[in-house]
Amino acid sequence: MKIYLNGTFVDEAKAVVSVFDHGLLYGDGVFEGIRSYDGLIFKLREHIDRLFESAHTIMLPIPLSREELIEVVKQCLRLNRLRDAYIRLVVTRGEGDLGLDPRKCLNPTVFAIADKIELYPKKLYEQGLSLITVATQRNVPEALNPQIKSLNYLNNILAKIEAINAGYEEAIMLSHSGYVTECTGENLFIVKGKQLLTPPPYVGVLRGITRQTVMELARLHHTKGAGRGAGLEAREELLTRHDLFNAEEVFLTGTAAEIVPVVKIDGRVIGNGKPGPATKRLQQGFRRLTKTAGIRY
Ligand code: PMP
Repeated sequence: MKIYLNGTFVDEAKAVVSVFDHGLLYGDGVFEGIRSYDGLIFKLREHIDRLFESAHTIMLPIPLSREELIEVVKQCLRLNRLRDAYIRLVVTRGEGDLGLDPRKCLNPTVFAIADKIELYPKKLYEQGLSLITVATQRNVPEALNPQIKSLNYLNNILAKIEAINAGYEEAIMLSHSGYVTECTGENLFIVKGKQLLTPPPYVGVLRGITRQTVMELARLHHTKGAGRGAGLEAREELLTRHDLFNAEEVFLTGTAAEIVPVVKIDGRVIGNGKPGPATKRLQQGFRRLTKTAGIRY
């Protein structure tokens, strides 16, 4: 496997970074997870834009332009002869000393890994997930805004550990005030009547690119007539656990997982306990989009 690292493509075994890299020492860096489908990179520009926004907020200058980064991603896929892949793009503060001071890190580290996509078990999509809410609250945006897709995922990992300890695969995280935010690596949606609702970013969620795509898909179908698609009115709204328990359908969205039905939350059965019709229609719409929209390489 060829890895892009600081300007060149190197073999996997040679793709190493310093123990003084602040990405490693402090989680000081940003990243993106990107998908390609049959030779088309899905929402690449959106991912690059979000990477630049995360970097801008932490005042990390990315030493490549948007166009150059796009070329890196394409090249990485081509060199590894991958058509269906997951690409991890990472920019760290770079090598410094043992102190926090980012001014001591003169050269950001940039790397990209393109690998075969590890698909989640089919069972997950057919039967749906059971989730629990956990005690670990989502980061407060005023302290560490979840919009920054940073290398520090301990908030999410702590929640994931809680879910795993309780015998679940995934956790729902609440905000400081007890509102629903998101899962550890996916956004969350509910369907109630003709409404498709998801928590607003200010409550403490990442503005997921799949989330945005799903909202657009739902709206598109809505304007084209309910008979042809999901026929939903997509909106951001504060949600409580009560809203989740009494939703007709619940699903998660993320670049790697795509759209995952949820059938049980904290022991309460959601809807009829099976993936619902709106979720299925959105999954189909999403699939279609991945086959047509995207950047060829
Ligand atoms: N929330 C979190 C915390 C995430 O890390 C991710 C990405 N893995 C998402 C939501 C989903 O975002 P996207 O659809 O852009 O992958």
